[in-house]
Amino acid sequence: MRLILLGPPGAGKGTQAQHLVAKYGLVQLSTGDMLRAAVKAATPLGRQVEHIMASGALCPDDVVVAIVEDRIERPDARKGFILDGFPRTVAQAEALDRMLSKHGLELEAVIELRVNEAALLRRIESRIAEMTAQGRQLRADDNPEVLHRRLAAYREQTAPLITYYRRHGLLRSVDGMQTVEEVAAQIRRALDEKTDRATGAKAPNRQIGKKSALLRKRRQPKAERKKRKTLRTSAARKPKSSAKQAKRRR
Ligand code: AMP
Repeated sequence: MRLILLGPPGAGKGTQAQHLVAKYGLVQLSTGDMLRAAVKAATPLGRQVEHIMASGALCPDDVVVAIVEDRIERPDARKGFILDGFPRTVAQAEALDRMLSKHGLELEAVIELRVNEAALLRRIESRIAEMTAQGRQLRADDNPEVLHRRLAAYREQTAPLITYYRRHGLLRSVDGMQTVEEVAAQIRRALDEKTDRATGAKAPNRQIGKKSALLRKRRQPKAERKKRKTLRTSAARKPKSSAKQAKRRR
């Protein structure tokens, strides 16, 4: 299973990804975590993105796409993965589509965590204040000013992905303002519904259609089928009025 978790910073994507890891045995691919690890290790990539991340802006598409492509090719991602924090622009989503089709892979669903931005801001600001009061270390981009910029980046560059994935028939939206357990349950239901739809609707319908057409054909004796065919072709050849008469004669 390959999923995307979509939502603004602080919506709970990381927490929900962990639930999905535990339930489905997938790996969580968080571009934020990968970039922070690069910054911490002071790799050339880390040095390139450090100031961008601290400002709350998005890192260049080609940089992020390259690290995701490298990651999904590793053996532990074969069973499936959850993309957390990627894609964040339409260009990244298009690059992901190309990447997946190159590897013969498909996305199962895109889960959007819908949140109320004002409530989200209050929630994050109180968490920041709490952590500061306790003397705990904060992320470089964990301050109210940068948070506003990260939310603006989401609105302007990432939110268009909602329409993008809705058009692709992959979007499932859940209410991200509920408790962690309730959101996790909503996600499970959305994924189960999708599985039901895939197994319960598509395949049997196609089967029934095909089978009944074949049975109808087999039940008619050959002479009868020939007679019907002749009538159909001669009616088609005649001008409209005489075709109507032929129909009435029948
Ligand atoms: P996150 O932990 O997902 O909130 O990401 C933290 C920061 O890493 C973001 O504010 C961006 O600067 C950068 N980042 C993470 N993922 C991406 C991405 N897909 N595209 C661009 N920048 C990203």
